[in-house]
Amino acid sequence: MSYLPDDMPLPLATPDDAPYWQYCRERKLHIQRCGSCRTFRHPPMPLCAECGSAAIEWTPVSGDGTIFSYTVAYHPTHPALKSAVPYNIAVVMLDDAGDVRLVSNLVDAAPEEMRIGLPVTLTWEPTPDDGYLARFRKRDGDGR
Ligand code: ZN
Repeated sequence: MSYLPDDMPLPLATPDDAPYWQYCRERKLHIQRCGSCRTFRHPPMPLCAECGSAAIEWTPVSGDGTIFSYTVAYHPTHPALKSAVPYNIAVVMLDDAGDVRLVSNLVDAAPEEMRIGLPVTLTWEPTPDDGYLARFRKRDGDGR
């Protein structure tokens, strides 16, 4: 079962983020990192904003993080979402990828459970085109 309806439009890869999506197809979360100064960045970009280098490496990360910010949508912003409201949109700060934050969804939290600082971990959600999307769930051991 997917968090959002299967008829939601899927992400379209660009030349810069195609490797990210390919890793997702393999259920691997890899974040782009500067090959020169090692700064993580997301979304993927051709040049490092810190040092200007075009050297790129893709680094595996744990998928653990915390909710940096979130919102709960009560009005569908796309016709496919009519049956999905209310749903959350979570900005997840990854534990091991510098300042990188992923925009995703927390699949197992009711709106009233959402809170900044909530520990979360990656979960892969299959897509209708045989890919996977990086979603998150509450991390085991959280006391709330
Ligand atoms: Zn750099």
